Amino acid sequence: MRKLFTLFALLPFMAFSSSAQSTKKGDVNEDGAVDISDVVELVNIILNGGGTQSYLYCPDDHHPHMIDLGLPSETKWACCNVGATAPEGNGGYFAWGETEEKDVYDWSTYIYCEGTDETCLDFGTSISGTQYDVATKIWGNSWQMPSSEQIKELLDNCTCEWVEFNGSKGRKFTSSNGGSIFLPAAGYHDGSELFSHGSYGYYWSGTPYSSYNYCAYGVFFNSSIAIYDFDRYLGQSVRPVSK
Ligand SMILES: [Zn+2]
Repeated sequence: MRKLFTLFALLPFMAFSSSAQSTKKGDVNEDGAVDISDVVELVNIILNGGGTQSYLYCPDDHHPHMIDLGLPSETKWACCNVGATAPEGNGGYFAWGETEEKDVYDWSTYIYCEGTDETCLDFGTSISGTQYDVATKIWGNSWQMPSSEQIKELLDNCTCEWVEFNGSKGRKFTSSNGGSIFLPAAGYHDGSELFSHGSYGYYWSGTPYSSYNYCAYGVFFNSSIAIYDFDRYLGQSVRPVSK
């Protein structure tokens, strides 16, 4: 009953924000489209008041959860990758700015260029939380791709160790508040092949590379870990953060 009351209490606000920022009726998550992601957003609001509850680690099977790592910016990281059904799951592989998986990842199939790296669309300073953000598109308006600064904050404030978790190899990030997340070494898609699965993780940020339109920032890890700029056509993982 309380949850229903919460929903009704939110409705006037949702109607207002929708009319203020969107022209489409039913665009609950304000991504410019009326689709299944709006239903996901509504269910999220009904079940947990918009997903504001956070945990120190993934508590159960009702993913995604917001994990509180006690970060200075108060950013909460998701417990699992976009497209994954568990923290150890690979999830989906996405070209930067694309919101659907595909069979072949190269410049000819990258939808935000005209077949070459020299014709990539200029996205401005960030795609996080926009229609080009796969986390927002699939998980709803509570989530978005991390910025490169948020990834740096994660690296700066957590210890990071190579572990095997539920049969998946990857890196576990642990913070001083006891919170932790696991990122599987899901590898990456180039062309029609999956490379480095089980040995490397490649995760996108929502931040374009400052010098070239054909790259965007992300983080990769194996025995070491670093923020790097990757060609946008590559199929890589996305670990969202909460808005
Ligand atoms: Zn979870």
